[in-house]
This record gives sequence, C-alpha cells and structure tokens, in this order.
Amino acid sequence: MTQPLRYRGRFAPTPSGPLHFGSLVAALGSYLDARAAGGDWLVRIEDIDPPRCPPGTDSTILHQLETFGLHWDETVRWQHDRHAAYQWALDTLADQGLAYPCSCSRKQWQAYPVYPGWCRTGLSDPAQPVAWRLRSDLGKRPIQWHDRLFGWQHLDPETLGDVILKRKDALWAYQLAVVVDDAEQGITDVVRGFDLLDNTPWQRQLQVALAFPEPRYLHLPLVVTSQGQKLSKQNLAPALADEPHAVRQQLFRALQALDQAPPDDLSQAPVTTQLDWAVTHWSVEQLSPSAQRELPQEP
Ligand code: GLU
Repeated sequence: MTQPLRYRGRFAPTPSGPLHFGSLVAALGSYLDARAAGGDWLVRIEDIDPPRCPPGTDSTILHQLETFGLHWDETVRWQHDRHAAYQWALDTLADQGLAYPCSCSRKQWQAYPVYPGWCRTGLSDPAQPVAWRLRSDLGKRPIQWHDRLFGWQHLDPETLGDVILKRKDALWAYQLAVVVDDAEQGITDVVRGFDLLDNTPWQRQLQVALAFPEPRYLHLPLVVTSQGQKLSKQNLAPALADEPHAVRQQLFRALQALDQAPPDDLSQAPVTTQLDWAVTHWSVEQLSPSAQRELPQEP
C-alpha cells in the first residue's frame, strides 16, 4: 500500500501591499489546516510582476506573519528568480501544441466574452510582440475538480478561454507560475480565498498537461465590508495591527471569520495560546460554504 503524502500547504501572497484583515484570514486558514494535519506550511512570495510590488513589501508581509505567530517551515521562496523553471514549463506545453504565441490585443477581441483563439493556427500579425496562451480546448483536460468546502465544481471548457501564460512584456503570468511552484514544492493542499476558485480550472489543465499531481483544494470565504465589497487596499481595508493587544483581538476576529467559534476568554490570550487552541479545534466542517463573510465587528 502506498503511504499518503505528508501534508504540505502554503500561503502565497502577491506583495502588492501589506497584508490586511482579509489576507490574514486566508493565511490563518491555510496555516491551521496544515498544522492540524501535522503538516508543513510554506510561504511563497509571488512577485512575478515587479511594477505591482513596491520594494520592501515582501519583508513587511513576512514580519506581519511573524507578529501573528504564523511561523513557516523551510526557506521562503520568491518567484522573481524562477524564470528557468517557468520557461521549461512553457516549452513543454508548446512542444505538445498546448501553448501558442498570440499577437492580438485586448481591444481587438473586446466584443467577445473570452479570447476567441484567432492565433491558435498562426499569428494574426507577425509584426507585433507576442504573448503566450494556453490552448484550453485540446486534450484530456478535466474541467471538474473537488473543493473541500464548495464540493464538486464543473466547468464547460467553451467558457474558459485561452489564458495567458507569458505576457507581451515577457512577464510570467500567475496561472503558470503558481502551478509550477506548487508542483515543485510538493504542495498537497491549496488553501486560499474564494476569489481564486475560478482560476482553478486553468490550473487543473496545466497540471494535467505537465503531468503534475493534483493538490486538494479548499477555498475560504472572502471577508467583505458591510457593503459586500472585498477587502482591498483600494477600499481601505483595516490595516493589520502590530501592537500586542490589537494583534490578539484581530487574530480572534480572524478565527471568528473562519467560523471556528473561539471561546470569548480567548480574545485576550497571547497569539501562541490562540493558535494552539485553533490548531486543536480546527474544523473545516464548521465553515459555512458561502462565498463571503462580513468583516466581524470590533468588540
Ligand atoms: N498570489 C495570489 C494572491 O495573492 C495567491 C495565489 C494562490 O494562493 O494561489 O492573490
């Protein structure tokens, strides 16, 4: 009998800004799921798009994780120096006819719901710079996958579209980088926010095409404002605290946002005590399968 793989999870922030309460909830959920399974928890900085990532934000994020007691295993991985691995993946796809160069601009196909694949059979305009796209219409690609909270997901490949893998400015796209790094780091469990659920079909296609194993998926409800907006830098999501009293309160509220019903007397306990309680009591069954969760009120 083969042994089940040791659990390996990860938190993979894009360092476009410091973590806010919504990203703390995602980090905490993936941390608790890994620790409750006795597994490893890794941190990967997804800085493939340097213009979007102000210098120093990666260190700020790492410091914030430590402040909340979310200590990771192994050394942190950064994506900015992973060019060779991503190029290998793109070449492998292109060799199989599963990736193709595309010279079209967004403006040209704006009347269509997804890119109609004009360059699949040859470049529309060889004089233009090219992006690389995944052929989402070929091969045995499962557009069916299981989410531990939201159950079986099905997607019609017609609605998927040929996602970009490498941009015209030569920057790597998230879909390719995340799949290559998850596989290379031996990630068994992807736990992240609900906003990434609809990226999963392309990631499943890439995993199948590159002969990578399929991780388990758990998408966590997104924390939204009382007006139903996703927390973000743009809508002034509350910044994460660094003063110990406020840190304890925010961690407690993050546990509430994950439906873990922490007992009231935990709200002022040190982060290590709160995390110990939360690892012991972590229960995905308690999470209600709704896409959104309203920001818990300050006590
Ligand atoms: N880097 C992505 C983000 O910050 C998350 C990637 C993932 O967890 O798959 O939204």
